[in-house]
Amino acid sequence: MKAAIVTHDHRVSVEDKQLRSLEYGEALLTMECCGVCHTDLHVKNGDFGDKTGVVLGHEGIGIVSELGPGVTALNLGDRVSVAWFYQGCGHCEYCNTGRETLCRSVKNAGYSVDGGMAEQCIVQADYAVKVPDGLASAAASSISCAGVTTYKGLKVSEIRPGEWVAIYGLGGLGNLALQYAKNVFNAKVIAVDINEQQLSLASSLGADLVINSRDQDAQAIIQEKCGGAHAALVTAVAKSAFQSAVFSVRAGAKVVAIGLPPESMALDIPRLVLDGIQVVGSLVGTRTDLAEAFQFAAEGKVAPKVALRPIEAINTIFDEMQAGKIAGRVVIDFKNSARS
Ligand SMILES: [Zn+2]
Ligand SMILES: [Zn+2]
Repeated sequence: MKAAIVTHDHRVSVEDKQLRSLEYGEALLTMECCGVCHTDLHVKNGDFGDKTGVVLGHEGIGIVSELGPGVTALNLGDRVSVAWFYQGCGHCEYCNTGRETLCRSVKNAGYSVDGGMAEQCIVQADYAVKVPDGLASAAASSISCAGVTTYKGLKVSEIRPGEWVAIYGLGGLGNLALQYAKNVFNAKVIAVDINEQQLSLASSLGADLVINSRDQDAQAIIQEKCGGAHAALVTAVAKSAFQSAVFSVRAGAKVVAIGLPPESMALDIPRLVLDGIQVVGSLVGTRTDLAEAFQFAAEGKVAPKVALRPIEAINTIFDEMQAGKIAGRVVIDFKNSARS
């Protein structure tokens, strides 16, 4: 079967790969599709350590085609995810308290184990999340990473109906965050970005207040018009957005970080202490978060923008991604390309 494998020179080679036989608790998936994420670009480039030989992909959706011994969670024909949270240890303090993505022995698809950017993929049956009927596989692939990350970030923010949430960065993560915030959490959304195109998309998706922070002082406008946001969610990859977010919220609010710029930010200590501001990180989502995020998308409350491409285009896709030329999500299509 064809698989997208990381090479030593930071490219991806589409190779024929033979999978091992299934072990206890595992299932084999015939892949339908797999999204291409910025994280894949980092893995391929060796930014998180050399990953030569690994099969990429943590936004995979596939159909269960074979069950290993001891599997009770899945049936043949089920449609399930291959997500970044591939497997936790199942017995640590994090796994046992609803914080399984923080497990110190976590396995991540397309990073520490082979992922879903291939015609077939082996998953841990207990960790593969079923996709509800009525949600197309390409849309589900986007929900399995960007969708669940933003949905979980909003849960962490504790935003409530009618309250203002400031979303910094309206790209791939941010436009899904906006849809969950509006259509699931019933919040009022302030969209902050430096890109007019992203902001007009945000307006069309129902943003209540749109601010271009390239030439406007976002934190001042949010304080003036809303009395400060009740929460902020930062998906941007610029430090300035994180710093502005801390000053955009009202006293007692949470600022949730889900974007991942590789740098430090300064925190104003009096602001934290005197105004009781919390700044917290949020990492993807648990299996239950993902099941919920899928269900809301299946109900039509959230619609990711996706474009299908063949696996042979993978290096071109990464070049385009690196050059910032990709709008929405590119999803590798395995269903309609010839299998080998
Ligand atoms: Zn991803
Ligand atoms: Zn654990």
